[in-house]
Amino acid sequence: MYNLSIVLEDSARTFPDRDALVLGDVRLTYTQVDAMANQVANLLVELGIEPGDKVALTCPNLPYFPVVYFGILKAGGVVVPMNVLNKGREVAYYLDDSGAKVYFCFEGTPELPMGQEGYAGVQHAEGSPELILITADPAAPSPIDGVRTLGQALAGRSPVFEARLASEGDTAVILYTSGTTGHPKGAELSHSNLLLNALTCNRLFGSKPGTDVHLLTLPLFHSFGSTVQMNAGFSMGATLVLLPRFDAQAAIALLQKEDVTFFAGVPTMWWGLLGALTPEVDVERIARNLRVGVSGGASLPVEIIKDVKARLGVTILEGYGLSETSPVATFSDPDREPRPGSIGIPIWGAELKLIDDDWNTVEGADAIGEIAIRGHLIMKGYLNRPEATAEVMRDGWFRTGDLARRDADGFYYIVDRSKDMIIRGGYNVYPREIEEVLMAHPDVSLAAVVGVPHESHGEEVKAFVIRNEGATVTEDELVAWGKEQMASYKYPRIVQFVDSLPMTATGKILKRELID
Ligand code: AMP
Repeated sequence: MYNLSIVLEDSARTFPDRDALVLGDVRLTYTQVDAMANQVANLLVELGIEPGDKVALTCPNLPYFPVVYFGILKAGGVVVPMNVLNKGREVAYYLDDSGAKVYFCFEGTPELPMGQEGYAGVQHAEGSPELILITADPAAPSPIDGVRTLGQALAGRSPVFEARLASEGDTAVILYTSGTTGHPKGAELSHSNLLLNALTCNRLFGSKPGTDVHLLTLPLFHSFGSTVQMNAGFSMGATLVLLPRFDAQAAIALLQKEDVTFFAGVPTMWWGLLGALTPEVDVERIARNLRVGVSGGASLPVEIIKDVKARLGVTILEGYGLSETSPVATFSDPDREPRPGSIGIPIWGAELKLIDDDWNTVEGADAIGEIAIRGHLIMKGYLNRPEATAEVMRDGWFRTGDLARRDADGFYYIVDRSKDMIIRGGYNVYPREIEEVLMAHPDVSLAAVVGVPHESHGEEVKAFVIRNEGATVTEDELVAWGKEQMASYKYPRIVQFVDSLPMTATGKILKRELID
């Protein structure tokens, strides 16, 4: 019996005065954060929350996020974090689907217009969860009649609480994800799923207690940020420097000012950092402190790995996983040189295999198949959706929808997401391979490749490209560059130059939007 919240409680005992959270000038010690989480737990017990009850949370990366997250866990509740960019209608869907009894929601500010649709969403929800409004200034009066702010709800509440223990299989967090297909579904992750994943991460990162300083800008409502930085970081007594909205310049400024030792980001964040390394930046200071760099969430172009190594001196370690896998399933091998372009090897306690559409194992070095995973990291299932769960789970194996190959040494390489695969004239074309080739061109900064409808080929390969500043490469030149290096069925025939690419709140390029 235990509770995931021990990652915070333990560090509050071991490192009471160490900074746990930093946001601008605000610094909160482990003792303070734990005490505030206890206040939230006391509030929830008063509101009648029983073990297993769902409590929803919309909040950007402000100290309130971990405070409320761990308060819910301590009270035995199940955290339902939501994307801060959700519209009211989506929020209502998640509230109803999860059956949340209480909903903590950030009201949004002009600088951080995140979550502000959330409380509008409550009105559309059929169930009527008790709304607690998180305001940027905890002393501010409530902007809505009859609705308490978090500041008001916690005032005078006891900072002591004995966490309600859970069985290892009890659900701790429900993460909404579209999975491989269809409507968003709630992946139920247990206390042991999440705790083991965080602790395994620390081993892979070579973390030492009470030493690391994380720059945390990955959204905490997503499992990458919450497991890899919040839960893993807290369990090691790390200091988490929060940056609620990723901005490359602001991130660089914090890397310098806070002597950050650990940065995790999606590839587009790493790309952004490289672009913000102007001559005024004290690169040496950043490089001296930065101990661990992690990338995940999408394929990391090899060019970015090379540039980061050359300019910041750190080898980006790559991990791979999904919301359904807590999330880390594979990671660079700590005992062998990272292989650029590889997502590494299965983490401790995880088994991986490659399968075909009928769940048969695909054998042989470099054969392409869909990744299936088994082990302590696999979710319990999708909340209230036995059929959707059965589609992706069989005998403990979870199928991911991601195509990969494994080399003779056991390293895995993502070929592409199966649904991103383009079929041109009957041939399978994997956008990632083409993106890598385009990004190796000296004038190309970022590339995203999609399939667009074509009368005779079914689909045609189209590349959206952001050029380096001042670069003049033309469409014809890039098509020729592709043609020179790739088989005729796959090089891109259409290149469109753009200034930016549409991205999700987690920094993944929205290929669907590009196609539309
Ligand atoms: P999510 O559930 O939002 O975490 O998204 C999971 C998906 O992100 C996976 O199914 C992959 O398609 C993608 N993904 C995660 N990590 C990587 C990686 N290192 N390389 C390529 N794709 C990744």
